Amino acid sequence: MPLDQYHRDINYLRISLTDACNLRCVYCMPEQMTFRPRDELLSDAELRRLITIFAGTGFRKIRFTGGEPTLRSSLVDLVRHAHATPGVESVGLTTNGVLLAGLAAPLHAAGLRSVNLSLDTLDADKFRRITRWGKLPEVLTGLHAAASVGLRIKLNAVVSRGTNDRDDVIALARFTLEQAWQVRFIEQMPFGNNADFQKQSIVGEDELLAVLRSEFGQLELVDQGKLDGEARLYRVPGAAGCIGFISPVSNPFCADCNRLRLTADGILRLCLLRDDEADLRPLLRGGASDEEIAAFIRKVVHVKPWGHGLAQEVMSTSRGMSEIGG
Ligand code: SAM
Repeated sequence: MPLDQYHRDINYLRISLTDACNLRCVYCMPEQMTFRPRDELLSDAELRRLITIFAGTGFRKIRFTGGEPTLRSSLVDLVRHAHATPGVESVGLTTNGVLLAGLAAPLHAAGLRSVNLSLDTLDADKFRRITRWGKLPEVLTGLHAAASVGLRIKLNAVVSRGTNDRDDVIALARFTLEQAWQVRFIEQMPFGNNADFQKQSIVGEDELLAVLRSEFGQLELVDQGKLDGEARLYRVPGAAGCIGFISPVSNPFCADCNRLRLTADGILRLCLLRDDEADLRPLLRGGASDEEIAAFIRKVVHVKPWGHGLAQEVMSTSRGMSEIGG
């Protein structure tokens, strides 16, 4: 079991399969974004090897993300490999849903059981403005395909002040009345590439709770507020699903952090919001054995920082969210 120096069990690896994306969400990246050439990314064989080594060191949960992970043609094979790897208990996917309609069934057959789909609004014009290029009907088709093959659904909405902080929040939360989904509202996080904009746009949990209560009445706190992953959950009384808040800025959950991130180009990120990194490529490409790589991973886990430093104005400057794997 990989424990860090603060005795946290670090057992969750988020793997970015590409830094490229088929959308350009305004809070995530500029429209003219340059992506890494394909040959700078880890190969499928390198990824399969790493998944096996991480599982061997005690990582039990794998999530594929990006960029947009559905752009990688080997996604289904990688899910199948992760699912079949001894020690891996759950395999998840974070996606914008644009390509999910055609992938939901093969992903489910490969062992995927849950999907986190990013959806900030149900207003098609606003969706296009936020994502710059996105077509809402494509995403909704993907969402329904995922639900109909039996994938567990979490919807992730990044809330931006003045854009989607009221009616959109209510419309998304309404899904939970009938569907056993989690609809989670995420605070915008500042990154060096976009920090001022993000700081001005943050909408806190209390404010969103007030909006939701004005529509649905009192909400029940689920599990006495114990975090589910990173989300604090509420339920409209009698509803099938839950409403969650992920508030890394106003309500950090670093004490419960159990994750490392692997970027598409082979860098381990120790904290989403700090630049501490460890490069796996010299080992992977320099002939290191599986045992040597496992020892390196254990060393890296040990020095994982306690938490982010946003309160001290420390933030990630070397990479934006899409280059890390959100
Ligand atoms: N393309 C996939 C998707 O859209 O889910 C996976 C990668 S995307 C970077 C992962 C998540 O990060 C999305 O839900 C996105 O909305 C969120 N995100 C991007 N920039 C963010 C920011 N500055 N603060 C909070 N969440 C952000």
